[in-house]
Amino acid sequence: LETEDQGFETEELSPQSNYGSSNILVAVRCRPFSTKELQTNNQSIIRVLDANSLIVLTGGSKIRRNKPETFIFDYVFNETASQKEIFEKSTLTLIDGVLNGFNSTIFAYGATGTGKTYTMIGDGNSAGIIPAAFTDLFTKIEANQRERTYSVRMSYLEIYNESLKDLIYPSNIVLDIREDPIKGIIVSNLTEYMATNIQEVMECLNLGNQRRTVESNEVNVVSSRSHAILQIIIESRDKASGIESELTIGKLSMVDLAGSERNIMTNNKGIRLIEGSNINKSLLALGNCINALSERNERGGRIFIPYRDSKLTRLLKDSLGGNCKTVMIACISPYFECCLDTLNTLKYARRAKTIKTCIKRNIV
Ligand code: ADP
Repeated sequence: LETEDQGFETEELSPQSNYGSSNILVAVRCRPFSTKELQTNNQSIIRVLDANSLIVLTGGSKIRRNKPETFIFDYVFNETASQKEIFEKSTLTLIDGVLNGFNSTIFAYGATGTGKTYTMIGDGNSAGIIPAAFTDLFTKIEANQRERTYSVRMSYLEIYNESLKDLIYPSNIVLDIREDPIKGIIVSNLTEYMATNIQEVMECLNLGNQRRTVESNEVNVVSSRSHAILQIIIESRDKASGIESELTIGKLSMVDLAGSERNIMTNNKGIRLIEGSNINKSLLALGNCINALSERNERGGRIFIPYRDSKLTRLLKDSLGGNCKTVMIACISPYFECCLDTLNTLKYARRAKTIKTCIKRNIV
């Protein structure tokens, strides 16, 4: 039976208030229309009602119409929401936790072209969650440096067709996921880069992004065919007590998932179809783990969580059910042609909200 126990020495804490009783925060972000969409139909299918709810008005193809459906989340951001607002509401509170020995994961879910990369990384003009989180992290480390010694290690990998690739130092060495009784989930042979400032982190990130597997499909110009996972591990000790003092270890994982669009829309064939089914398999596995975790909440007791069904869920095992707080940003489009993908994303996100994880702190 799969269990959540990561073998850490633990200290249970109550969840932070903005997460309510669950340790997953689910936010939805609707992107603005693209210039091309504005030329055909600029009637948004999304009505944001308030900070927590939205209605999907109509959609499917031109012939099919869905009944309006209301969804409620921790946050709903419309197309005017700034990168800063999204970072501050979804992620800022996690940074202190990571510095204090908690694990956290942030992931973006949605079809290609809905703004996942924009939300996670940003563009030249406005930084997304990853650079904002690192800026905050290094500022806090700097401020605490008199009292504590820190080491920050980062790794960046992609999961493509169920195999792992190091995005910082690509090589032919096989990367494998295993579980360590003390350290939790680790990837053997993955390079860990010692980062001392935000510039170094951004260089690694940009380099890694150039190596990501992307392709054109019929719906989108460039589609991410892989899941990209950036992880940082922060270890710190109290300076005054020296080497004898407890070692605090916090891990932050930031995941830019491959597009969740359906193959039928993208008209994928051959290798694209194989990629597509691997993407769907891992997103399905992620959904199944989320479902099983939420069922366990409702029914209590131990329920099998199928983490082993995909590389993605094996890697995220301690992000969904274990020693962790999770932020999911579901990205959607306002365009009527994307309605089915939008509804699928919102339903997926709604299931996620019922997860209740058990937060523990890592002290070695
Ligand atoms: P994905 O990673 O989901 O495939 P992208 O992040 O690449 O999607 O976004 C697709 C396009 O839409 C990009 O040109 C991006 O700059 C733009 N975009 C997405 N979200 C926003 C937003 N909230 N504000 C402005 N532009 C956005």
